[in-house]
Amino acid sequence: MREKILVEVSARHLHLCAQDLETLFGKGAQLHNRRELSQPGQYVCEERVEVAGPKGSLKGISVLGTRRPATQVKVSLNDARALGISAPVRESGVLDGSAGCTIIGPAGKVELSQGLVAAKRHIHISPEDADKQGVKDKEIVSVKLDSPDRSLVFGDVVIRVSENFNTSMHIDTDEAQAAQAQGEVYAEIVRK
Ligand SMILES: [Zn+2]
Repeated sequence: MREKILVEVSARHLHLCAQDLETLFGKGAQLHNRRELSQPGQYVCEERVEVAGPKGSLKGISVLGTRRPATQVKVSLNDARALGISAPVRESGVLDGSAGCTIIGPAGKVELSQGLVAAKRHIHISPEDADKQGVKDKEIVSVKLDSPDRSLVFGDVVIRVSENFNTSMHIDTDEAQAAQAQGEVYAEIVRK
């Protein structure tokens, strides 16, 4: 039997490129690590911004470290609806043709022409665990999430294998809500 995989819920967040960081927080601004995330080198920053669309805005969105070559904003589909933006479901860093939005920081504003997406649900997995699970990088699998009353099978889950990963599945707040995933939740790959 395959081992179960820890599920982590990603709230809306964004990664900034160096230039947008300066526009939003001022020249020479640096990110300040507030809390480490499960994936090595990833952290939640003290810095917060507002993201706005034609229908509304969301305040207090966490900036995650480290910086990226291009700014990317990750929201749930419910968030996107509140903003009045149609967000495509994308893998991390695949931003061509994604949605635009406005980002507002304490020192300025960025009009993003693209970069807002809903994250494709995914499993970060170490090569060793990928062997145990019998999965490969970029493979698409179905995964069953166990919860007391609303266990759910998610399809279209992409596998991402790297030596730098700690094995865990990432879903967004809409997906967590749908499966009533609270506290420590585990998932099992059920189909390839
Ligand atoms: Zn992730």
